[in-house]
Amino acid sequence: MPPRTQRGSGAIRLDTPVKFLKGIGERRAELLERLRIRTAQDLLWHLPHRYIDASAVTPLVKAEVGQEVACIGRVVAKGVVPTRRGLRIFHAVLRDESGVLECVWPGQAFLDRTIVVGQTLLVSGPVRFYHGRQMAPREFVILADADSEPEPLSGGKVLPVYPATEGLSHKIIRGLVDRHLDALIGLSEDVLPEQVRGSLQLPSLQDALRAVHRPASALEAELGRRRLAFDELLDLQLMLIRARTVAKRSRSGVAFTLRRDLTSKLRQALPWQLTDDQQRAVREITADMTAPERMHRLLMGDVGTGKTVVALFAMLLAVENEFQAVLMAPTELLAEQHAATLERLLAPLSLRPELLLGRQSAAEKQAIRARLAGGHARLAVGTHALMQESVSFQRLGLVVIDEQHRFGVEQRAALIGKGAAPDVLLLTATPIPRSLALTFYGDLDVSTLRHRPPGRGSIRTAVRTGAHRDRVLEFVRTEAANGRQAYVVLPVIEESERADLRAATTMAQSLAARWPELRVGLVHGRLKADERDEVMRRFRAGEVHVLVATTVIEVGIDVPNATIMVVEHPERFGLAQLHQLRGRIGRGEDESFCILVSEGPAGDRLHAFAATQDGFKIAELDLEERGMGDLIGARQSGGFDVRLARLPDDADLLDRARQLAMDLIAADPALQRTENQRLRARALARYPRAVELFRVG
Ligand code: ADP
Ligand code: MG
Repeated sequence: MPPRTQRGSGAIRLDTPVKFLKGIGERRAELLERLRIRTAQDLLWHLPHRYIDASAVTPLVKAEVGQEVACIGRVVAKGVVPTRRGLRIFHAVLRDESGVLECVWPGQAFLDRTIVVGQTLLVSGPVRFYHGRQMAPREFVILADADSEPEPLSGGKVLPVYPATEGLSHKIIRGLVDRHLDALIGLSEDVLPEQVRGSLQLPSLQDALRAVHRPASALEAELGRRRLAFDELLDLQLMLIRARTVAKRSRSGVAFTLRRDLTSKLRQALPWQLTDDQQRAVREITADMTAPERMHRLLMGDVGTGKTVVALFAMLLAVENEFQAVLMAPTELLAEQHAATLERLLAPLSLRPELLLGRQSAAEKQAIRARLAGGHARLAVGTHALMQESVSFQRLGLVVIDEQHRFGVEQRAALIGKGAAPDVLLLTATPIPRSLALTFYGDLDVSTLRHRPPGRGSIRTAVRTGAHRDRVLEFVRTEAANGRQAYVVLPVIEESERADLRAATTMAQSLAARWPELRVGLVHGRLKADERDEVMRRFRAGEVHVLVATTVIEVGIDVPNATIMVVEHPERFGLAQLHQLRGRIGRGEDESFCILVSEGPAGDRLHAFAATQDGFKIAELDLEERGMGDLIGARQSGGFDVRLARLPDDADLLDRARQLAMDLIAADPALQRTENQRLRARALARYPRAVELFRVG
């Protein structure tokens, strides 16, 4: 023990490992590690994910059928009851001063291990009638263990609820944060200039941290969150805008000339007209490519909107300027598919793309590499194999990356680095609302394809319950017997994962037994990539009629003959994810059917989903439903860190952050002036990989 202590907690610093903090020690430090809390700073930044407003808690007797309520009660009885249909339901009876309420968690028998008699729970969800009032909680929080008293919740009080982990209840975490809060806040420095803060009416960093951890009211907590969210958005925008300026300026690109040679030939040879959206995207891309600056553009469009042909125009513009163009896809299957499409579209132009895949023989690859390096091959399609060091191009003018989020920043850079200053076109089939596009793709220009080409069969979406499963399957069988193909998607691979969910392996077995005349395939995430590809190839070739799968089915897979998509347990999937699944069908001329087989009542969300096919609208619904988490998952893997900002609600903050970042970088491009250095340091602390971008010189 050091002889002299500051504030009674030792001389802690923000980077002190948590195990040295009072009340933590080795054992708890290990548990905290699971929540990624390693240092004192991490503890300070372990923020509540929600608040319980005591004034909004309903006494148990007042929870009325048909309402959505939040209640607090002590568990007085519990157990698991099987139903006739084989579903196992976990029950718990809660008691408070007013009375009791039964809570049920259908199919979540495993909660029997987590919830014990004597605990105090906060539950929230709808109340329904089933032999009496019953709540089916959407969410629950263990407020106090069986042997401890919950904190009394008096009127007006707001209780923060922290993400917790087994062995470390949120109550313990709250205690730890609270104990060290003042000391840690005292060590934190506010780098946001006073004047900016004032103009946005945001609290200081210190006040904001206090407000989110110990709010006096829900409003105070919200103001604190907004301040922290602003910082987060500002750091991200600083980095993106800097990235964009560096990309544009550091190396000027090729100013291609529109020779109207190959591009015009392609337009004449196409078997159909480009859609208005496609024409606009081609114009935007052409404008970028003919400008002296490098293109850095994202082409965003739902599956089936026809991104490939737009990319092909860009590729031909490069090729007619005596440059090479390359298209990289995340899997061999997609790369093969692109190569086949390009081959078909380019045949009238007497051009052929090279296809480079990891599984090709060494000799084959060697020959392709030689053609690329020597410049005999003008167009290439491939997978990660393209990024390898041994691959070089004679004169690479354009890089197109499909499903761009499936590649890391470094991987994309590796391919782009194979040209002197190639233009870059990224493709994504995950449309996102504009506000999010600005947040996450602030470093890119964006073109969007909103409408699918005409002449495609429509997709009908139906919502059914488990009671209709037999009829749904009969329909699948009839269609398959008529030569159509179907996907059947389930949320888990095996039943052992979740006893209450139908699983892919079981479904595949039962369908195979039920339909001896049809071939049933199975793909899931635990198969090796080549095994999975093999089944997918057979499905594409029509040798497999019904493909049972988890959500691993390739996003871009194009099997026009597949006209049925059955999704089991659609309630388990986000709307955007369901939309991606639905995008696998409706790719041919015939009408397609997407059938959601829901266990419980479907609810508004599935009906809203069934009513629209607009990916952007669905992205907005999804955003409302689940917050940003999943939508940005893609970019998080690219190292983006946005946890507190909520869009579209914080759109005003985003606009201000973006404007401020642009002003700052316009005036001081590498943020090296004294007054900006702390801002730069913070942005770099959040995005260490951006350090290259801010290097001066
Ligand atoms: P995406 O990659 O955006 O999911 P694709 O580029 O694979 O979509 O295109 C889907 C299908 O639509 C392909 O079979 C393609 O040939 C076809 N297609 C593309 N553009 C048009 C168009 N303007 N009119 C008709 N069919 C089109
Ligand atoms: Mg595609």
